[in-house]
Amino acid sequence: MNLLKDPFISTNFGKASLKDILTSNEDYQLQYFFDETQLAMLQMLSSLSTVVLKPTISELNVYLANGLSPKQYDALLEKVDSQWYEGDRFMRSVFPSTAKIADGPITKLVSGIECGSSANALGLFSESSEISVCCPDCTHVLNYNLHMNIKGECFGPTGATGIRGGGSISTLISGKNLKSTLLLNTICVDYFKEQAQLDDDAENRVMWAFPPKSEIYSAPKIGLERGLFALAYHIDFPVNEISCKCDICGNNSEQSVTTFQRVKYSGAYGSTKKGRDNGAGWWLHPYTPRSVKEDGIYAVCARDQHWQSWQELTSYVVGKDADKTTVKPAFIINQFQNKLKVDSSLSLLVGGNIADQGSIAGRIYDLYSMPSSLTKNNTRISLVIDAGLTQKEKLSAAFNFLFSKNHVGYDSNFIKGIKNQAIQKFTSNAQQIIQQILLDVNRKEATQLRKEAIEALNKEAKSIFKSVQRKYQHDLPIFKALVKGEFVLYKSID
Ligand SMILES: [Zn+2]
Repeated sequence: MNLLKDPFISTNFGKASLKDILTSNEDYQLQYFFDETQLAMLQMLSSLSTVVLKPTISELNVYLANGLSPKQYDALLEKVDSQWYEGDRFMRSVFPSTAKIADGPITKLVSGIECGSSANALGLFSESSEISVCCPDCTHVLNYNLHMNIKGECFGPTGATGIRGGGSISTLISGKNLKSTLLLNTICVDYFKEQAQLDDDAENRVMWAFPPKSEIYSAPKIGLERGLFALAYHIDFPVNEISCKCDICGNNSEQSVTTFQRVKYSGAYGSTKKGRDNGAGWWLHPYTPRSVKEDGIYAVCARDQHWQSWQELTSYVVGKDADKTTVKPAFIINQFQNKLKVDSSLSLLVGGNIADQGSIAGRIYDLYSMPSSLTKNNTRISLVIDAGLTQKEKLSAAFNFLFSKNHVGYDSNFIKGIKNQAIQKFTSNAQQIIQQILLDVNRKEATQLRKEAIEALNKEAKSIFKSVQRKYQHDLPIFKALVKGEFVLYKSID
């Protein structure tokens, strides 16, 4: 099986190849049980598409407008050294002869169901028994997910941190169908060259063909294709000649895989402290928003389990300047904003895990409708998000009356708990409200969207506040403080 040629992708039409998806007009949809795998597939396939197409900006615009014929695909594939994308080679470098090999169940490669052995690597939302066996085709996306999305700390001392850092957020453009999604996330070589500031002698050959040798993996030396599939582990998936029904894609397979073996690479990327301290630099990973701080560049991660992606949406789309940190949108968002021409309406996909040390505390997979012209209309998004953040602040201010000594003699943790719970509820409910309002981002003017956002979110804030008031109506000191705070939510916003 070759990842650039053969059908290994699980879809509503059965297994399809990258060529099938990129060159036909069928409405393919990915079929994987876990949104985490789905997200990793979108990243991996867009990166594979980059390897085959290697488009310039103008070429990608032509593919987006007119599609790509099977003949064109084949002609482009001729120029690729496709042996490195054979199933038994892709992203698998040979173990060093003296290395001690760690192994584990494939369960660990779906990080929402992490089951590490260290004290703070905990299992999460699904039963780990849900994933115990997969088909050989699915080992590739699990491997990719390990390298790009899973936090090395989840594996304790045998864990490694990959090129984009552990547990970072991914942002992708979501098109009207799978083909356009993959094309929209395919990287234009000329624009990447301009933005990534690589050295002229940057190595572009993949790491499983030419593993990195130095202790520090210097970002300017890592070419586009090498970086898109940069390794952090030597890895292998022993295949059993036993048939199975795959727990990842649901297909039946003659062969099965239940474990994987790994040895971590010894060098450090600029995504790690060691790499940063030694000047490795940040490699411009195209799907990763990043914060630029005084001491270096970091992938944006979500750390608090009550975190919701809407709060950071503006920074993922337009960026954000704060005190000592600047958040920059992912390269792929900039590419779309600045270089691509698309008429149809699009969405932004924000995905990833919420990691807390070795644990995964939550998972994000949110779709936002985007204005078709992001350059012109992205203020519409920031106005909606700002409306949400303002209401959140107001709700917080309304609850602050609880902390006044004149009103309440309660334990301060108890009082804080009342407030925090309410704010978390608001943040969580606002997620859907904002996604809903942004569905109209192309049809409505900025002022109208802002007005609707303020109304809907203010209503939500009031309703949460009222429910807390009701709960404590017989607790007079608390109730009285809440009555005093209520007016904050009724003050109008200009
Ligand atoms: Zn499978």
